[in-house]
Amino acid sequence: MALIVQKFGGTSVGSPERIEQVAEKVAKFRAAGDDVVVVVSAMSGETNRLLGLAKQVCTRPSLREMDVMIATGEQVTIALLAIALNKIGVPAVSFTGAQVPIVTDSEHGKARILSIDETKITAQLNAGKVVIVAGFQGVDEQGNITTLGRGGSDTTAVALAAALKADECQIYTDVDGVYTTDPRVVSRAQRLERITFEEMLEMASLGSKILQLRSVEFAGKYNVPLRVLHSFQEGSGTLITTDDNEDNMEQPIISGIAFNRDEAKLTIRGVPDTPGVAFKILGPISAANIDIDMIVQNVAQDNTTDFTFTVNNVDYDKALDVLQATAKEIGATEVSGTTSIAKVSIVGVGMRSHPGVASRMFEALAKENINIQMISTSEIRVSVVIDEKYVELAVRALHTAFGLDAPEK
Ligand code: ADP
Ligand code: ASP
Ligand code: MG
Repeated sequence: MALIVQKFGGTSVGSPERIEQVAEKVAKFRAAGDDVVVVVSAMSGETNRLLGLAKQVCTRPSLREMDVMIATGEQVTIALLAIALNKIGVPAVSFTGAQVPIVTDSEHGKARILSIDETKITAQLNAGKVVIVAGFQGVDEQGNITTLGRGGSDTTAVALAAALKADECQIYTDVDGVYTTDPRVVSRAQRLERITFEEMLEMASLGSKILQLRSVEFAGKYNVPLRVLHSFQEGSGTLITTDDNEDNMEQPIISGIAFNRDEAKLTIRGVPDTPGVAFKILGPISAANIDIDMIVQNVAQDNTTDFTFTVNNVDYDKALDVLQATAKEIGATEVSGTTSIAKVSIVGVGMRSHPGVASRMFEALAKENINIQMISTSEIRVSVVIDEKYVELAVRALHTAFGLDAPEK
């Protein structure tokens, strides 16, 4: 008998009919003798609908109250799934994050899980029930409801699997696994049988929304066997694995291509080039709790220099305010920025043993006349910032250039 944590995403619980289908699926596992903990997201579109409601009332709503509101989406689906399971004779009980409790820090909107008390869940499993837990939410030490950031139900599932020492964490979604790139953008993308944690971490951090980044971090850290599968189609999905098969001759150089349209670029020009200048510019940005992604400093001319860096779109206005204040203070001449950029990245552990991957990427982009604005690399990835309007063209061109296209049917 195994203990399995299963997570069903928004589209998989998008209607009462779908929830009944999910119940049937969970019932099959139960009938086979497995203990099952199910994590569900809100019905598709619901979190956005709730966010929209608040925006109609106030452009900068309190983050605490936003969490109280958006956590309701998942509260609806846990109850509906429990009702659906009970109807078909499978005893089930639902818990919100606060009821478990899943204790987080107090960073509303992007809270981190600190601990999970598994007592209630284990007691209900021992009583023969399927336990259904609301994804995406927790409670801080003061009792405030918190949420884990968009896509956070993945993290709830993996964290529960780690806490319960589950045999597997299965992420059920609307595609049948992790692909070489988003199959909605490249129709010839191919499903990967397996992908390493290291690669999946890069893909997730570079914008592939198939798994929330923190869920992959958690799975890697606690060694949770993680699989991505289609909710309603049979198949083995994609296994996220620690085994990177480095001796495998078939190892592709590039495993996948990720892209992120949610980045913005800021530039400060005419900065006096003195020691400590990077800290003076970027220190206040970090102090404002804004994550910086890529950074480029140009070679100094006439004792002044330029800095360009990227941040997430949601932080753009705040970053611009902070940068303008810094510019005044340090006597920089100009601040500018744009949100119409995108980051495209190629990822693969095979890159380690193959030089020249970056130049192949630049060549493919040059052939399409796509201008590269910024570049950054690590051992297993190369990222470029380009104009947002060329993102799909760039991804398709790279997919072909690195031989990832599925054979034509
Ligand atoms: P859920 O609501 O189930 O959490 P998401 O929308 O968060 O589902 O994630 C699934 C989506 O991720 C797919 O529909 C697909 O468009 C997108 N996606 C992005 N990159 C990839 C990739 N490399 N492989 C598979 N799907 C991807
Ligand atoms: N409902 C939340 C969201 O839309 C969490 C999730 O689906 O994982 O981001
Ligand atoms: Mg998701």
